[in-house]
Amino acid sequence: MSRILIVEDEKHMLQGLKDNLEFEGYEVDVAYEGQSGLEKLLNNRYNLVILDVMLPNISGFDICKTARKEGVNTPIILLTAKGEEIDKVVGLELGADDYITKPFSLRELLARIKAILRRTGKTDQIGSKTQIASIGKLSVNFKNYEAFTDEKAVKMSHKEFEILYYLFNNVNNTVHRDDLMSKVWGIDYDITTRTVDNFILKLRQKIEDDPNNPRIIHTVHGVGYKMVL
Ligand code: CA
Repeated sequence: MSRILIVEDEKHMLQGLKDNLEFEGYEVDVAYEGQSGLEKLLNNRYNLVILDVMLPNISGFDICKTARKEGVNTPIILLTAKGEEIDKVVGLELGADDYITKPFSLRELLARIKAILRRTGKTDQIGSKTQIASIGKLSVNFKNYEAFTDEKAVKMSHKEFEILYYLFNNVNNTVHRDDLMSKVWGIDYDITTRTVDNFILKLRQKIEDDPNNPRIIHTVHGVGYKMVL
């Protein structure tokens, strides 16, 4: 699920955006002013940031500049007030990915968000398409959260499906534990790498012919996991 941070001091607008983005299936975090917005951006992982320019304490431009300087490459959409043409240019030069002028239509903003997420390849969402995958002993229908072995239903938790889906979408590539944690649990959850490892053990028991000698979900020591199919 894509996580979006909104930094906006107009509470009405913030709440409206938050509600609408959540309705669209995004996970939303918010900040009401610049300082906390910058801190959230530096300390968390988001797929996208919607950043108002005129903010108390630290402006959107400065947040953008500081974040880029600190190596944060999360896509940023700036919200600028009408007529701030020069500021738009400045914003893009400071490392923003797009801008939108207030007042804007929600539909336009959603289109920009989708375009950016598509570009950055973070739109993977379980259930977004029908997909029946053959993974080891399992046949998995990700859309319906169903798994079978020899036509018999196999019980799997929601999280197990999500982990499996993420690995499957990155098949033959190493997936970092941190990425798995932030993608499947979201960054606010206080989970440990051990939790992830335990889920992997459970999945192996359902997938692998010999769970102690896995051939599908490989451990990449010190990094994470790799699904090989
Ligand atoms: Ca403002």
